[in-house]
Order: sequence, then C-alpha cells, then structure tokens
Amino acid sequence: MHEVNTSLNSSERQFPMERTRNIGIAAHIDAGKTTTTERILFYTGLIHKIGDVDDGNTVTDWMSQEKERGITITSAAVTCFWKQKQEEGVVKLFGDIDQRINIIDTPGHVDFTAEVERSMRVLDGAVAVFCGVAGVQPQSETVWRQATKYKVPRIAFVNKMDRTGANFQNALEDMRKKLGAYAFPIYLPIGAEDNLAGLIDVVNQKALIWGPGDVQNEGLKYDITDVPAEMKEEAEAALKELVNAVANKDDAIAELVLEDKPVPALDLKAAIRRLTCNLQLVPVMCGSAFKKKGVQPLVDAVIDYLPCPLDIPPAKGHVPGTEDEAIVEASDENKFCSLAFKLWTDPYAGKLVFFRVYSGRLKKGDTIYNPRTRKRERVSRLMIIQGGERKDVDFAFSGDIAALVGLRNITTGDTLCDESFDISLEPPTFPEPVISMAVEPKTKADRDKMSEGLQRLAEEDPTFRCFTNEETGQLIIAGMGELHLEIIIDRLKREFKVEANVGAPQIAYRETITSPADGEGKFIRQSGGRGQYGHACIKVEPNERGKGIEVENKIVGGAIPKEYIPAVIAGIQEAIAGGVYAGYQVIDIKVQVVDGSFHEVDSNELAFKMAGIFALKEAFKNANPILLEPVMKVEVTTPGEYQGDLVGDISRRRGNIQNIENKSGQVIVNANVPLAEMFGYATAIRSLSKGRASYSMEPLTFEQVPSNIAANILDTAAKRPAART
Ligand code: GDP
Repeated sequence: MHEVNTSLNSSERQFPMERTRNIGIAAHIDAGKTTTTERILFYTGLIHKIGDVDDGNTVTDWMSQEKERGITITSAAVTCFWKQKQEEGVVKLFGDIDQRINIIDTPGHVDFTAEVERSMRVLDGAVAVFCGVAGVQPQSETVWRQATKYKVPRIAFVNKMDRTGANFQNALEDMRKKLGAYAFPIYLPIGAEDNLAGLIDVVNQKALIWGPGDVQNEGLKYDITDVPAEMKEEAEAALKELVNAVANKDDAIAELVLEDKPVPALDLKAAIRRLTCNLQLVPVMCGSAFKKKGVQPLVDAVIDYLPCPLDIPPAKGHVPGTEDEAIVEASDENKFCSLAFKLWTDPYAGKLVFFRVYSGRLKKGDTIYNPRTRKRERVSRLMIIQGGERKDVDFAFSGDIAALVGLRNITTGDTLCDESFDISLEPPTFPEPVISMAVEPKTKADRDKMSEGLQRLAEEDPTFRCFTNEETGQLIIAGMGELHLEIIIDRLKREFKVEANVGAPQIAYRETITSPADGEGKFIRQSGGRGQYGHACIKVEPNERGKGIEVENKIVGGAIPKEYIPAVIAGIQEAIAGGVYAGYQVIDIKVQVVDGSFHEVDSNELAFKMAGIFALKEAFKNANPILLEPVMKVEVTTPGEYQGDLVGDISRRRGNIQNIENKSGQVIVNANVPLAEMFGYATAIRSLSKGRASYSMEPLTFEQVPSNIAANILDTAAKRPAART
C-alpha cells in the first residue's frame, strides 16, 4: 500500500482538479456494484480487510437495514487515493502521480431512482457494472439512460466473469444492441468461469495474470506477461477493431490509420480519453470483483479515461427570480457555488449535507447563502468520509465533494453559495410517486413524532411524499414502490422510534385535463359587519406529459390587487394538490390568472385563496378531465415452456407486449403493464412457472385509465376518499 499525503486541511489544495475524479458506480442490483466499490476501496489502501457483501460488512452499506437487505439505498460519498504504477511495457496516461477519487455510491434498485438521479447530477464520470452472465438487465438500462440524460461519460465493467455461464461477447453485444452504446473492449478475459486467469490489455498487447496465492493475498498482485500464443490472434483483432473504432471519431488517429502508420499506445489512450469524456465512446473492461481480478486496471482506467472536473462543461444555473442563465466556471478563484445533493442523518455526527463544489472554495467558519430560502448559515464543521471513517477537514475546493455538519433548512437540490453570487443551479428532476398507503402510529401519542419523522424523511428524499388527507385525517405516504415505502417505515422505527400500522398499498392515480377551459371563483360573504370578498377568473390548458404544473399571473390592470395574487395562486395550488375529479393530485396543466375583482373593505387573503380554489375546480371540470395511472415496464425471464401462459397472463393484466426474445436458452418478455394490475404478480408468476420464471419492473409513464375502470375508481373514491396522493 503506498503512502499518500492525504491531508486535506491545507489552505492550498493538495489535489489540483486535474487529479480529481468524481465517479459513480452504477449497476443493476446484484451485478456487483457493492463488491466492486469495496475492492476499489481496498486497493486504494483504505480498508485493510476486505468486507464481503455476503457478510454484511461493507463500507458503503452503512445503513443497518441495507445490510439486512444487501442493497445499497443511499449514496454515500467516499474519498480515496490512487497512484498509477509504472509498469514495464504498459503505458498509462498519468503514471506515478497521486490522484484523488470521490466515489458516489448509486443505488441499483429502481425504487430508489431519486438517489440515482441526484448522484448522476454531481458525477463527472461513471463505471457501469454489468453482470457477465445476465448482460444488460432492465435496471442497468434505466441507470444508463439516466447517465445519458445527465451527460455522464462511462466505462463499462463486465463483472462476474468467474461465474458459470459468463460470456463477455454476449454482454458486449447486449450493450451495443440494447443501450446503443459505441462500446469497444480495452481488456479481454483470459479464460472464463473457474478458469478466469487474467486479462489481456488490448492497447498494450500484454497479459495480466493473477496468480492463485493464498486466499488472503489472492488478487493482490498480478504478473505482466506477453499475450499467450493461443490468444494472440484475438488480442490483435481486438486492437485493430479498437483503433478503427477510435479512428472513426478522432482525426488524429484517423490520420495515422490512413497513412498506414503505427498508432502509439500513448496516442491511442489519449484519443480514447477524449472520446470517452465527450460521450462518443464507451471503453469496456471485464473481470471478477469478487475474485479480485481486474480491479486495479479498472481504477487505472478511471484515472485514464474518466473526466476531471475541468473536462466537463461548466455547471449551469439561473439568477433567482429571472430567466437569466448563469455559467459557473470551475475555479478556486471564483466565488463559492455548490449543490447539496444528499441529506443524511448520521448516528454520530448528526445531520450531514453532502455537497459538490462547482466553483470557489469553502472554509470552515465561512457563511453560506441559500438562494431558495434567502437564508445564511455559518459552516461550523466540514467533513469527508474516508473508508467509513468521518474525517474533519478545513476546506472544500472547486470540484470536491464533502459534507456539511449541523446545518438546518437545507433540502436536496439546494444551491449553496456566496451571498454575492446569488445563483440557483439546475436541480435534478425527479419522477412522480406511483404508490401510496395510509399510515398511523401504533400508539396515538406518537402521532406528532411520526409526522415529524416523515417530514424529515421527505426532506431527504424527493420521491417520497407525505401529507394528511383533509377529508379523513389519515396520514398518507407515497413513493416509488412497495420496497421504498417499506424502508421508510423501517427507518421511522429505527431512527425516530415510532412503530406504524400501514394500510394496503394504493395506486397513486393522477388527474389531468384534455382541453382548454375557463373557470371563475367567487368567495363573497356580505351580511352586516366586515365581510369577505374574493373573485378570480382563470384559464387552464393541458401541459405536455411530464412538464408538470405552470401557474402564471396575467393580470396587469389591477383587477386583483398585487398583494392578493399570491393568495389566488396558493388556492390554485392547493386545489391542484388535493385533486378535483377524484381526489388525486393534478399533473401537467397550465393555469393563467386572467381577471377578477375586489372590494375596498371586504377583500382579504383568505377570500382570494378560496376564490383561487373555486376557480381551479370549475375550470378543471370544464376541461374534460381524465384519470391517469402509472404504467410499469415489466421484464419477465422464463424457460420457453411457460412463455404461452405468462404472455396470456400479462395480456389479461391489460399488458402490452413490446417484444419477446431468446437469450441463453431463456425467453425474455418485455411488456408495459398498468401498476394496478401488478399486485400479487410475484405469486402468480411463481405458480404459473413452478417457480422458474422471474421478473422485474420499473415505472415507465402515466397513461389514461380506460373509462370502464375509471368509473369504478371514481365511484370508490366518492365513497372512500382516503386513497389520494
Ligand atoms: P450490488 O447489488 O450490485 O451492490 O451487488 P453486490 O456487490 O452486493 O453483489 C451481489 C452478489 O454477487 C453478492 O453475493 C456478491 O458476492 C456476488 N458477486 C459480486 N461480484 C462478483 C463476482 O465478480 N463474481 C462472483 N462470482 N460473484 C460476485
């Protein structure tokens, strides 16, 4: 283990931005993300005893229920250090210089897409881990799409090459076909399954062989040899393919190829780096994290090919209250600007706010400003997580990731900046919850403690919501799936010591409109003494799906005095949240406040708020409202003999079959199915396939509920208004 000066307490930065990598490790659940992270932390010298996921003893899985479930649901940011070793005959781009790597752990379970989205927002690059047996699984596709949305450059790591059935070529083909990736191997496996001996370094045409050694030391060292004779042809063909692929997109390499000149390894690597950082190429690696084969080259590749904070376009934001765009250049000399991407209640240190610095530097004792709340707070403590230990630091520089301790009033997605640099960075966007359930404390006395706990959890997680149903007084929680809500209940018990009874999960339907309409709301009470007078006229029209709610004030002449406009808008928003048609939240509409009137004496805020509520309700009813339901993307994997029964069952569930393919002797059925029809599916699929088929699903979109079913829902909602979100 090499020694590095990792002191991060100097006012001069120890690690220039060129030597910093902010990366995420993204994968389908069980592909080996946690194990890969563990191994990276091990090799980078942080933890001296490797913790295996199966023992529930890893650094990134620090929430106890995660250990039990073996899934990572929070994105902990961990800092580690690496130096590429100079090796005979092996060219590396940044040999022998200390580098700092911040790993932001992204969850693999689709119930936690918010976690993935928010970490994507602050990453500069990612390692996408795939399972060498299963190839591209549905959640890897989701994560891949999110990485593309946030323009995150990627390296692919095909893991589990030691497992029976592992097939590197299949995984590669899958990546090209399903993800449309311009993906080319930079390493090839030598042997497979039990006989995985090492890797071919394609660029350098060398073999890396991990010796057996004793269990403790296995995988620590590898030998560099010539490519074994029986793989020479394959290795050379892979290099040729790689060079051609790079030449296709890179002029410097194209020139060499056209002139039939040899392409030096250093030039090829530099070009791969350029293309990868530009999202034009995905270098593909392989190995077995578990067997400790291929991890050191992976860390080398993170340094070689993934961008540093200077290689990515500067962050964008806007000046609060305006449409003006603002660019945040990464430099310590600029004013401080950062994004809070993760809130975490640490059992020892209290509330931590993980943030990414986009420009400037932050010193312990500085005051930061939050443009959303317009509040200032003093930073009394700064910290980083290094190998599961919390380390106090005095500074955070441009491009760094660190945590603030003990600050209040900060929510995920907030910009934190220097007050004179009043700017809001683009916060990540989050999907709508699809499922809800009623909760109540086991003992009545815990009710306040419970709402406080739920409120705190909602602050941490933008895809989790909680509210009280006005009509029934019930507390309702809403999230991305049953597992998501189960974890919330579990955290409530562990962190807030409140035990809850929960109702059956309900579908989080939505309401929207299909045509423009007008609405008028009047709240007038004039019967002696001081009365009430509020009057508002509005226009509504459908907004594009996914575009959300837009409320705009179009009154110029003072038909409603300026000071009452916010009350009208608050009323409109309240009606939107509570639903009009069947008590479900309204989405995707545009509202304009266009007219109204007031009374010198009787007008007040409450009256205008009520007018806003009434106007929205009327307009909505006039605008051909419909109910929307969440539709899931479902993937079923089954032996061929059950295909007919399973497809028939999906059709009965109002499912649309998208495609059916054969892969490694299994049939894979892709379908879009309304979530409402998926309750109890786990049991159904088990009995239809004698336990041999499996499935996964993720939210895809909201679609109109067919009218016969909508009629039932409306009927039930009228009788039992508890199921709204
Ligand atoms: P995550 O859900 O993506 O974080 O995956 P984990 O790292 O928790 O791994 C899931 C399971 O696969 C665990 O039982 C690991 O021990 C196992 N695993 C991870 N990597 C490998 C590998 O390279 N080879 C084999 N055979 N098993 C692995």
